[in-house]
Formats: sequence, C-alpha cells, structure tokens
Amino acid sequence: MKLFEKSAAELSAMLQKKECSAVELTQDVLDQIAVAEPQVGAYVTQCEDTLEQAKRVDDARANGESLHPLAGIPIGIKDNISTKGIRTTCSSRMLENYVPPFDATVMQSVHCAGMVITGKMNMDEFAMGSSTETSYFHQTHNPHKIDCVPGGSSGGSAAAVAAGEAIVTLGSDTGGSIRQPASLCGVAGLKPTYGSVSRYGLVAFASSLDQIGPIGKSVKDVAMLQSVIQGHDSMDATSAYRTYTNLCDHLSGDVKGLRIGVPKEYFGDGIDTCVKEAVFAAIRQLEAQGAVIQEISLPSTEYAINTYYIIASAEASSNLARFDGVKYGYRTASYDGLTDMYEKTRSEGFGDEVKRRIMLGTFVLSSGFYDAYYKNAKLVQRKITQEFQQAFQKCDVIITPTAPSPAFRIGENINDPLKMYYNDVCTVTVNIAGLPAVSVPCGRSSDGLPLGMQLIGNAFAEQTILNAAYSYEQIVGGFHVIPEAFCTGGANA
Ligand code: GLN
Repeated sequence: MKLFEKSAAELSAMLQKKECSAVELTQDVLDQIAVAEPQVGAYVTQCEDTLEQAKRVDDARANGESLHPLAGIPIGIKDNISTKGIRTTCSSRMLENYVPPFDATVMQSVHCAGMVITGKMNMDEFAMGSSTETSYFHQTHNPHKIDCVPGGSSGGSAAAVAAGEAIVTLGSDTGGSIRQPASLCGVAGLKPTYGSVSRYGLVAFASSLDQIGPIGKSVKDVAMLQSVIQGHDSMDATSAYRTYTNLCDHLSGDVKGLRIGVPKEYFGDGIDTCVKEAVFAAIRQLEAQGAVIQEISLPSTEYAINTYYIIASAEASSNLARFDGVKYGYRTASYDGLTDMYEKTRSEGFGDEVKRRIMLGTFVLSSGFYDAYYKNAKLVQRKITQEFQQAFQKCDVIITPTAPSPAFRIGENINDPLKMYYNDVCTVTVNIAGLPAVSVPCGRSSDGLPLGMQLIGNAFAEQTILNAAYSYEQIVGGFHVIPEAFCTGGANA
C-alpha cells in the first residue's frame, strides 16, 4: 500500500514512529496528484511550496519539538476558505485573481497543527450546486466513475480524498455540500453543529447555514480534523462559546443501548431503492451490535427544499452584493458610468446559477413577496427545528440516506435546476436546524458507485454521531476508499 492510500490516523502514527517522513509522504501525494489530476481535476490551485512545508515539519521533529498528531499530513482546502497569499477563487470568474491578505481562522488552526497545505479545491461557484459543474474553471470528475459528477459543492475536496490527491480536506456545507459529495465519492464527511467552527474567512454564501467541516477516508480522520478546527472564535459573532473536547480521545465503537431514530419521510419515493436498501442494511448491522431502532416521523421534511432555497438564496443575494467591481475581484473592462460598471461587472463575473440565486433571493425579500416567501420559510424553519428537538427526546442519533441516488452523469441534471436541487433533499434539514451530521459510505450500487448514510445528532453531539459511525466502520472492517484505477500503478498502467 502506498502512503497516499492510508488514512491520516495511520500516517500520523507512522510519522510519529519515524516510519516515514513528512517529505516522503508529501512527495507520494504529489506523485499521485500527477497521476490522478489529469482525469479527476480536483484542484483549482496547487501550492508550490508543499515540500518546503513538509521539510519544516521534519526539521521540527528532528529537533525534538512536540508536534500535533496531524503535523505533516497533506490537506487540501476548499477554494472558498481564505488563505493568506494563496488565490481564493470560490471557483468564480469574479474572484479569479483574488489573493486574500489574511487567513481564515480555520487556516490558522491548520497551520498551528503543522499540516501541509497541498492547494485549493474545485467547487461549485460560490458553493451553489450539487455537482461541481457550476465551477467557472473546469469540471471535477468522480474517481469511481470518471463520467460521473463528484457531487458538490465541495466536489474537489471529496474527489481529492477519494483519489488520494490529499489525505484529508476541508469543505463547507450550507445545505449538504460536505455530506453529499462525501457520499458520492465514498468518503466520510462531517457537517459540524452551527457555531462550532469559525466562519471567519469563509466566503459567505448563506451565513446562517454555512459551516466548514472535514472530509477524510475514515471516521477517525474526520474526528481528528474536526478537533483541530472546532472552537470559539471572537472573530465570528455566531461562534458558540463553550469548551470542546478532543473527539478522538473518546471515539468508541460501542452502540449498546444507543437509540437510533429512522424517520420514514427520508425513505420515500424519490430515494433510489439501492440507497434505501443499503441504509437499512447498515441500520440492521448497528442493531445487531445492541443499538435500539425506532421509526420516527419528521413531518415537515417535505417543505425542507423550498424552505432552504428561499432562506439560502435570500442570504446569498445580500452576501454577494459586495462583488460590485469596486472593492476587490473582477471589474469589467469598459463601462459608461457607475451603474453600467456594476451591471457589466456582475453580468460577466457571475455564472448562471449564481445569478439565479441572486434573482430568487432578491425576489423573496422584496416588499411585495416577503411575507409569502421569506417569512413563511422562517416559520417552517422553526417547525423543522422543533420536530428535530422532539425527536431527540426519544433518540440519540437519526439515520437517513445522505443523497437520493449514487453519482449521476456529468450533464444529466445541469439544465434542470429543480432536479439538481432535489439532490439536497436529505441534507438541507440539518442546516436549517443547525445540527451536526456525518456521512459515511454504506455499500455500493449495482454498477459499483458508492452509497452513503447520514447520521444526524443533536446540537453539539458530534461525539455521539461519530461514535455510531465509528462503530459501523468497525463492523464493515473499514471503508475502501481509493478506486482501483487510481491505486498503485493503476491509472496509467
Ligand atoms: N446544493 C446546495 C445548494 O446548491 C447546497 C450547497 C452547499 O451546501 N454549499 O445550495
């Protein structure tokens, strides 16, 4: 097994025992990028100084400095997270040449841990999409089937982990953008509780829903990275003030007596049979380990997509007002006065999906329609949240599919926004209620595509859902991640 095929947890142990160096590991990942990237296209920008970063970690270790367990582990960063001195594009023409003068808070944490930044990962433009097809730059392909999408919007982050082009990555999740690509690419991804990870330096899409979170090959990898990035931050007014414990210290595979709720609304007609079967099979395996399964009901789920697209678009229309050609980013070449400059800059700088959201958001906030749309959406949001609160009186974890289907073909849904939006049917409720949820692989479709299950927890119950996911991972003997075509000698052989 090559180094890039291993999990961060395994590599961390090897680095500490000096069985490999950070430079060797980084070189291995760079070699894999050279092999896989022409087909996968996970990166927007690759860092040029990765080996120097790794060398610094090796030197520090040689000097006997005490290092974080993730020191020397290569990490890719979604391209909507501000990285000082490294281009941060949001996969948009608007920010094609934008180099932030500051680091997002999560980047400061990643640097403190001594992780090696490999580069910035492709995404749907401004994180709007479920397939990474709305990127201004290029399409990212699913490593498990190259003519399929990797999911989105964190498609580059998920595909990179699946192809061994990074050991772990950071994504962001507003309505499913960590979990759905993790599911489609056969990796693990966590959307943390709202407020547990700082949003300072995350380019805002829908501020009340956005959260940064980790993607990795295993539950432990996700737990390790989440432990690095979680925590209170005075730079983010919505950051939760509380004490956080290291999630790895308490990872246990014990689910005896764990009460698992299975909401019937998430297993309806729109969900592929193969997905339902795989998730039910996984639930039965947890039951065999002592978990107690009960059917529950979350009746307002049917309004979730509408609610999400109203709230998210409303906030997006406001957040994206800052891209006006004045402060930073793209400005049209020739214009006739200020209004013309605004119009041309935004017409040329934004892609179709972003414009659709801005128009939708402006519409639902307009004085004539505010009550009918935005206000009602906020009422339904309260209802969805209450239903979850009631459910969590009866159960500890709620299990659902992550996505309604395995990866679909590139081009299949891009001209049908409603079909694309339906991809988020199982994930948006979690953001609407501010809860944590993790997606883990749970089998394959008949043509070998990964399927995912989602474990939802009460606010700040990351440990509970990670423990349950870890238990499942133990039962199935680990998640196979790197597709054969991209394993040792495969891709170009
Ligand atoms: N697919 C959803 C959307 O397009 C979710 C995106 C996200 O989580 N960033 O809005």
